[in-house]
Amino acid sequence: MNLLKDAWIPVQQAGLMEKITLQQLLCNEKQGELCLPRDDMEFACLQLLVAITQVLFPPADKAQLVQRLKQPLTRSEYDDGCEGKLDWFDLDHPETPFMQFRGVNAKELTPMDKLMAGVADGTNKTFVNPQGLIEGLCAGCVSIVLYNTAYNCPSMGGGFKSGMRGSTPITVLIRGDNLSQTVWHNVLTAASLKREMPCYEPSDITLPNYIEGLRKDSKLSASTIGLAKGLFWQPARFELAPIEGEGVCSCCGQNLPLYTGFKKEKFSYTIEGVWPHPLSARTFTIKAGQKEEKFPSFTTSQPSWVHLAKLVVDKDNGKEGYHPAPVITQLKSFGAKRLNLMVGGYRNNQATVLERRHEMYSLASDWQENTSLVDELITLAQEYKKALRKALYLFGEGVKDSFAGAGVNLTDQYEAVFYQSTEQLIQDTLAEISYTQPSSALDSLSSSLKARVTQLFDQAIFPYRQEPKMLKALASSRRLLNKYLKDLEPHGGNHE
Ligand SMILES: [Zn+2]
Repeated sequence: MNLLKDAWIPVQQAGLMEKITLQQLLCNEKQGELCLPRDDMEFACLQLLVAITQVLFPPADKAQLVQRLKQPLTRSEYDDGCEGKLDWFDLDHPETPFMQFRGVNAKELTPMDKLMAGVADGTNKTFVNPQGLIEGLCAGCVSIVLYNTAYNCPSMGGGFKSGMRGSTPITVLIRGDNLSQTVWHNVLTAASLKREMPCYEPSDITLPNYIEGLRKDSKLSASTIGLAKGLFWQPARFELAPIEGEGVCSCCGQNLPLYTGFKKEKFSYTIEGVWPHPLSARTFTIKAGQKEEKFPSFTTSQPSWVHLAKLVVDKDNGKEGYHPAPVITQLKSFGAKRLNLMVGGYRNNQATVLERRHEMYSLASDWQENTSLVDELITLAQEYKKALRKALYLFGEGVKDSFAGAGVNLTDQYEAVFYQSTEQLIQDTLAEISYTQPSSALDSLSSSLKARVTQLFDQAIFPYRQEPKMLKALASSRRLLNKYLKDLEPHGGNHE
C-alpha cells in the first residue's frame, strides 16, 4: 500500500464512508470529513496528511498558499510533488517500509493493539475498546497508528525512546471549512519556515530516518534535522509482519486485508536541542543565559482551556515564556480573522495512557490583535477557582488553636466540578469576546464565575450547615471566600 497512490483516507460524505486517495483529496476530485470511530485516530490521520503535504507541496509564500486554499492542485502538480518520494510512503517496501525498519531483531510478534494508544495497557479502561477486540488493522489504519505512536504516544517503556517532541505532547491544528482546506491551513510557507524554524534550509534534502537509517547510539543536533526528517522520525525500530488474511479492521471497521502483528526493538540515540515542530507550541525557561525549551503536555486532569494561552500567545518576560505553534504564528502574520483551533493529546503515566483529549476552540475576530487577552481571561478564571479552593481548604482544615475544620478535603473534588461546569462558559467567551474592546465581556465572565463559585461553595458546605461545632469554620471560610471574590471584581474591589 502506498500512501501517495492508494485509497487510505477514511472520509464520510453524505453519511457514506469511503476511502479516498491523497491525490483525490488535494486535486479536489473527492472530499468529505475524516471518519474513524476514535477522535484521536482522526486527529493522527490529519497530522499525517499535513506532514505529507508539507513535505511534498510546500508553498513558497502567502500568495501561493492562498491559491492552494482556493484552487486544488492539478494532477501534474500532484505528480511533480510525488516525484522521487514514492519509496518513502510504501508500507510494504522491501527495504524502506513507511515508518519502519527492515531486519528488526525480536523473538516474538507483538499484537497490533499495542499500537492503538490506550488499548493494551493495564489501567483506566473507561475510554477504550473492550479487551480482545483488536485483532488486526488494515494498511491505511496501520499507517495512521504508526504515525500516531511515533509522534503522540508515550514510548513503549523499558528503554524505548519517545517521539521527537517527548512523551505525549499537545498538538494544535487550525480548522478550515473542509478537509483539504484544513490540511493547507496547517502547512507552512517557505517564508514562515525560515522565520519559525532557523534550522530550515529551502533546499531541504534531509531524509526520514527510516529511509536514511540511524546508527545505534548516534548523537544529532536538532539544528541538523531538516523538515522531512523532523516530520517523519521513527523513534523505535518497528517492522510489520506480513498480512495474515482478510477481516474486519479494528480501527475503521471495514473488511480488508489485515496486519495482525509487528516486531519491535528499542534503539538508542540522542538529539541535542529541540526541533521546532510546526504543530506544537513550546514553553521555555532561561537558566544561566541558556534557553531551555519544552513541548507542553496535559500533565494534570485540568481541562485543555487552561493550556490555551501557552498554545496561542507569544510571551517572554526574560526568564520564561512560550511560543505558539509555528502554524498559529503564520496565521497571525496573515492577519486571519477568526481562529478555529483543534487541540489534542494524551495524558500519560509513563508508558500508560490515562486519558485522551480532543477539543475545538474558536477565537473571535481580531484575536491576533490582542492575544494577551487569552492569557488574561484564563488567569481570571483560574483565580476564581483558587478562591474556591482556598475557602474550602480553610473549611476543611480549620485554624490551629482557633477553630476546628470539618476534617474533609473538598478542594480537589470541587476543583473538578468547577472545571466541568465552567468549560462551556470559557469556550463561549473566547469565541465571542471583542478582542479590541473586551471589558464588558470580561465583566460578564467575572460575574458568571462569581455566581458559579458561590454556588459550588454552598453546595460543598451544605451537609455541615446545621452542625453547631462547625459554625466558626463555616463563617470564617465564607468570609475568606467573599474577600477573594471582592478582590477579583473587575474594577479593583476595595476591602478591608
Ligand atoms: Zn482500517
